[in-house]
Amino acid sequence: MKDPNCIFCKIANGEIPTNTVYEDDHFRAILDAGPATKGHTLILPKEHAANLFELPEDMAAEAMKVAKKVGEMLKEKLHADGLNLVQNNGEVAGQTVHHFHIHVIPRFEGDGQKIGWNPKSPTAEEQEAILKEIL
Ligand code: 5GP
Ligand code: ZN
Repeated sequence: MKDPNCIFCKIANGEIPTNTVYEDDHFRAILDAGPATKGHTLILPKEHAANLFELPEDMAAEAMKVAKKVGEMLKEKLHADGLNLVQNNGEVAGQTVHHFHIHVIPRFEGDGQKIGWNPKSPTAEEQEAILKEIL
């Protein structure tokens, strides 16, 4: 299903032309309009899924294969020193476009970007309590 109000559905399905890095039957990878680094690419499924929770399992597996392929291509062609895969789900997690996508971000020595979080220092008891909630 495509969502007629979703810009990434239109881009993924070629209704809005964009800079395509890779395409197959189920995915299109495009250059991000607001890149963190040179070659920052987004992998979009052609079928609409708002986020990881809505994405069918087989498409999730395919998406990671595409991320590997695109990541290797960017690393080789742009001579990247490293690579981040970033995938946000929900506004609280930083998602701004609600059509599943994986950011493939080539990293270069001295590129000045920072992708991360402030690490906390939980006690052993706190970790145990979290495990009890999860399992
Ligand atoms: P999110 O914050 O949802 O994980 O990432 C959305 C990304 O989509 C951002 O990095 C933003 O720059 C990119 N973006 C938003 N609209 C467009 C667009 O119309 N075209 C392209 N190529 N990228 C877009
Ligand atoms: Zn969509």
